[in-house]
Amino acid sequence: GQWLGMIGGGQLGRMFCHAAQRMGYKVAVLDPDANSPAGAVADFHLRAAYDNESALTELAQRCPAVTTEFENVPANSLRFIQAQGSNVSPSGDAVAIVQNRIDEKAFIQKAGVEVAPYIPVRSEDDLQSAPESLFPGILKVARLGYDGKGQARVASRVEAYEAFVEFNKVDCVLEALMPLQREISVVMARGYNDECVFYAPAVNVHHHGILAVSSASPQADELGLGNALLDQARDAAAGIARSLDYRGVLCVEFFVLDGGALLANEVAPRPHNSGHHTIDACVSSQFEQQVRVMAGLPLGHPQAHSASVMLNLLGDLWFNDQGQYEEPDWPAVLSIPGAHLHLYGKADARPGRKMGHITVVAESLERATHQADEVKRLLNLPY
Ligand code: ATP
Ligand code: MG
Ligand code: MG
Repeated sequence: GQWLGMIGGGQLGRMFCHAAQRMGYKVAVLDPDANSPAGAVADFHLRAAYDNESALTELAQRCPAVTTEFENVPANSLRFIQAQGSNVSPSGDAVAIVQNRIDEKAFIQKAGVEVAPYIPVRSEDDLQSAPESLFPGILKVARLGYDGKGQARVASRVEAYEAFVEFNKVDCVLEALMPLQREISVVMARGYNDECVFYAPAVNVHHHGILAVSSASPQADELGLGNALLDQARDAAAGIARSLDYRGVLCVEFFVLDGGALLANEVAPRPHNSGHHTIDACVSSQFEQQVRVMAGLPLGHPQAHSASVMLNLLGDLWFNDQGQYEEPDWPAVLSIPGAHLHLYGKADARPGRKMGHITVVAESLERATHQADEVKRLLNLPY
């Protein structure tokens, strides 16, 4: 089979390997970690740093198409591989923009999509002149933040100074704290000839800054989202992808405000946690789309055949009340109809670490939610 290259060895890379291998491709994974989830299932594991030029050269020589699975991949590594003649999706240029919240927000606005009121913060002077309307707000580091890390809620200008110092005065954005009615996300894929497919938006609930629950349904009314809002989210995602000349799978996270207005929060240049349900609930998964884009195949059907509730499994779950390591009761979970267990093969459970997820599918969202509540009860999930 033909080789596909993956920079990054996390769970998104692992699920990509599964989709690619099922379709007859071989996958080469570049990741320095000997125990990486994707490296363990790859056909070839290049153990080297993400910016190691000889490893990148080897990846490019082996693989006519290369992608990535983590947001903070060095953009120059993607450019380097592109220069060696492999097709890289997404491009280093697209990834570079969304890796920096300052550039990302400006870019989203330029694409005609609204974001929360914000200012770039590169110095204390920027905080000094920040409009009062940005408080209470959130100060977020411009680069390398994820899962709510590198952000602080700030009630006042003084707290914003303190947080800025705490972040060692790296570039940040200060954005107003918005009254969120809910959070939704649109996962989409764009191919080489501007062909686009969109999954129906998922409704997301976060716990301590990390995605906890994501619900989706082929029937939009079950999610309580109006058609106008769905169209708006989809058009916004499409506009952003086209402006970036994006190739591959991406996710746009949105805030729905109390009044119903839609704001884009951020763009993930890869398959997304809120798209995991597409494995069990949709005709083609987000990972299969990633394969199809790379291989120049027609994109797959994004239609959901089931309603679904996805529950993230964090490392905390592996420790009992006494703080001792204990494998969760999978047989009990799997006795619940429609429950699909996904574990990422990570040996060391740590609090907050994404170890796996469960997708519960059913013919209606009401049913899926009911069954997911059973799973939550069994596992004692705090969300
Ligand atoms: P991710 O893991 O999704 O990449 P992240 O660390 O990049 O997370 P954000 O997505 O910017 O961070 O924020 C995390 C969560 O914090 C959001 O999903 C939302 O719940 C909340 N949040 C962020 N910005 C705002 C805001 N301006 N107003 C209200 N809530 C916000
Ligand atoms: Mg993010
Ligand atoms: Mg986010």
